[in-house]
Amino acid sequence: MSAGTRVLVLNAGSSSVKYQLIDMLDGARLAAGLAERVGEPGGRLVHTPRDGARREALRPFEDHAAALEAVAAELAADGLGLDSPELAAIGHRVVHGGRRFTAPTLITDEVLAEVRRLVPVAPLHNPANITGIEVARRLRPDLPQVAVFDTAFHATLPEYAARYAIDRAVADEHRVRRYGFHGTSHQYVSRAAAALLGKEPAEVNVIVLHLGNGASASAVAGGVCVETSMGLTPLEGLVMGTRSGDVDPGVVFHLHRVGGLTIDEIDALLNRRSGLLGLCGDNDMREILRRRGEGDADAALAFDAYVHRLRKYLGAYYAVLGRVDAVVFTAGVGENAAPVREAVCAGLEGLGIVVDTELNAVRSGDPRIVSPAYARVAVAVVPTDEELEIARQAFALVHTAED
Ligand code: ADP
Repeated sequence: MSAGTRVLVLNAGSSSVKYQLIDMLDGARLAAGLAERVGEPGGRLVHTPRDGARREALRPFEDHAAALEAVAAELAADGLGLDSPELAAIGHRVVHGGRRFTAPTLITDEVLAEVRRLVPVAPLHNPANITGIEVARRLRPDLPQVAVFDTAFHATLPEYAARYAIDRAVADEHRVRRYGFHGTSHQYVSRAAAALLGKEPAEVNVIVLHLGNGASASAVAGGVCVETSMGLTPLEGLVMGTRSGDVDPGVVFHLHRVGGLTIDEIDALLNRRSGLLGLCGDNDMREILRRRGEGDADAALAFDAYVHRLRKYLGAYYAVLGRVDAVVFTAGVGENAAPVREAVCAGLEGLGIVVDTELNAVRSGDPRIVSPAYARVAVAVVPTDEELEIARQAFALVHTAED
């Protein structure tokens, strides 16, 4: 049994490892950092301890194991090493949990094998997550390690929302259905929004708009997710930084048959060269707002397409929920881009959605309401904190397992 109160949260991507060490007694971030360009030239480790200056080192990482060992060494240099008795668990972000993993899960050989079996439905994400888990288990074989899945919060989607209307036998054979992503963020933000309204999650219906580089919307009824915009993969739904979001699937056939593009080329086009980037050459909303302010027509089109898609989803999810208590903006764009929030909510007074221009313009890192007190629907900004949520879930699981 561990008496530790700290959780190390690891988010291993294809060429990076992000980490945070969190003390669950007070939620304090004891250290955070990022190892990037793993397995590529130009590797770099940025480490920020709570009580000290940020340290940055340029150094190559041959693989994830080398990166994680460097992270462990940085933590040890601050007296926060992986061998510390204070460490209660390591929480791993895992992108795809398929239909089996609908809750945080203690990692065993069998669980790891199952996550590996899901690689065909998440070829870009799960392999890196698996490597992170393997390396962390090698470094601390005795420590509980917990997988927290991006898909888990969406496991409650009703069957009619999770199914694509295609031949059921074909869909089932290839595990084709809508899984949804960013679940840890949607869960954290929908609960924090309820708290902001002074209510329990079970008492409120909220629409969460997670607008980062990737972007997704969810409809959460009484704390339960009933609809979300991403699907089998994170490509479906909203216009994103570099992803198209919804397109007619016929576009794919057309580009292949008539345009002569290969499937891999179309995959790269829709995932990496579309969205805001495809429409105007920039995927950073700050740059788009600046260019639009200078009268740039391409940037204005990208902004309008982004907002239009969001409004379509907002209207659809309003109908799905029937009654909406809050519309909540989160992640890089949602938390910072007041013009996006204003444009998404413009002209929706009939639905009870109003933004107060002055409240909306305030810059703050705190959860806040930006609608006037009289509005039927609260419009809120809630900074997301996926790492804290992963740490909480991992810590709770380890303690339940011990009871
Ligand atoms: P990720 O999906 O990579 O975690 P984030 O949630 O950090 O992304 O969001 C990153 C995006 O947020 C940036 O690409 C940028 O478009 C947007 N962003 C960040 N700060 C601002 C800002 N002050 N104004 C407008 N957009 C911003």
